Amino acid sequence: MTKNFAIGSASLAFVLAVAIGGFFYPYIGFAVAAVMVVAMAMSLFKPRLFCAKACPRGRALGFGLKKLSRGRPLPTTALSGGSRRALCGFMMLCVGGNIYRLFGSAAALGSFFWGLCVVSLGAGVVVGIIYKPRAWCVVCPMGTLQETIGALKK
Ligand code: SF4
Repeated sequence: MTKNFAIGSASLAFVLAVAIGGFFYPYIGFAVAAVMVVAMAMSLFKPRLFCAKACPRGRALGFGLKKLSRGRPLPTTALSGGSRRALCGFMMLCVGGNIYRLFGSAAALGSFFWGLCVVSLGAGVVVGIIYKPRAWCVVCPMGTLQETIGALKK
């Protein structure tokens, strides 16, 4: 078994465990919140360091969709900084608003993070099949957030 295969299958197993397990046990959604915190912390050292070294979602998409993807280039509108920042801003508003709204209920908050994971994973799978396996990474709000934190730090 190669190192890439081992990392890819472990990432896919983690992502599926969170996506399926969170349906039955909402506290699993906090794994998503933890991953977001780690991504932001790592971006203080280097923008997109988390993407390059640790993101289970990116690796799972690349590994799981390798044979299913049509491998087409993305439309140029998806590549514009404006659309990526708008999506990132929308996600941050959703996260902030829901943390405030659901603060008293750990299960509801866990469900929110789980839902965020499932919706973005679904979007990642769809664009990954239509375009390239990791097409989601181009528009991913967490990737844009890491770039923004890195730029602000500079
Ligand atoms: S862009 Fe998003 S999904 Fe892709 S590797 Fe980075 S954090 Fe993960």
